[in-house]
Amino acid sequence: MLKRTDGIVLKSTVFGEADLIVTYLTSDYGLLKAFAKSPRKIRSRFGSSLEPLTYSRISMLGKEESNLPRLTQSDIIRPFYSLREDFKCLLNISEILELNLNFLPERESHPEIFRLLLNMLTKLEFNCSNRLYYLYFKIRFLEITGYSPRLDACGRCGDTVEHGRPAKRKNGGPPAHHNFYVSHGSIICQKCIAEGDEPIRLSTSALRFYRSLLKWNPAAIDRIIPPESLLSEIEGIINSHIRYVLGPPRSSYGAVRKDTARIAL
Ligand SMILES: [Zn+2]
Repeated sequence: MLKRTDGIVLKSTVFGEADLIVTYLTSDYGLLKAFAKSPRKIRSRFGSSLEPLTYSRISMLGKEESNLPRLTQSDIIRPFYSLREDFKCLLNISEILELNLNFLPERESHPEIFRLLLNMLTKLEFNCSNRLYYLYFKIRFLEITGYSPRLDACGRCGDTVEHGRPAKRKNGGPPAHHNFYVSHGSIICQKCIAEGDEPIRLSTSALRFYRSLLKWNPAAIDRIIPPESLLSEIEGIINSHIRYVLGPPRSSYGAVRKDTARIAL
């Protein structure tokens, strides 16, 4: 059965001497692996269309239940060539590709995530050093997939953060900061705090900024230049949360690696 869809290459893995297994995020089938026969040979009909980040119109042939349909055609819509050429860009983008590879189940349609990734790559092509783009992608991705950290209420008693007054100043003024516990994936209020891991402090202004990011559409974030301190605060929480949810990275031998570098490409 022939399938046609649009896909963005997340990863290509060498298979045998000249073949590749290409992992796509597709608009119709979500995460999808396809087998590409001999693309590494000179004069391959696939050309450079199987390079990571390439956005193409693809056709595949395979039975409905086939785990690895065979790629029959791949026509580039947008190559995102410049993002591959800049090593620093590629390193940063590999983090968001990793999210797709690690969180999304295969063959489960996620058109919203596909649009989000395409949108972000298009923005990054013009400014790949804008940290807000990466942060926005991560926050929206976690929300769509249901993995968001809980920052609106205490993870134990459920009191909303505003009413629960989770962390008061010594002088009894309004809350200066909230305590986020990575192991709970949540803010825990003052009255529920027990022993456990060291909390990460989250200022009320950073919390407001996070809530705004959840509401803004991708076009709106181009008009925002947030203070570095707010960006760093939210980045710290989101990156720690993602690392905790994913668990320790494993080497190809199954042993837990000590370093946490996770590069998809
Ligand atoms: Zn509580």
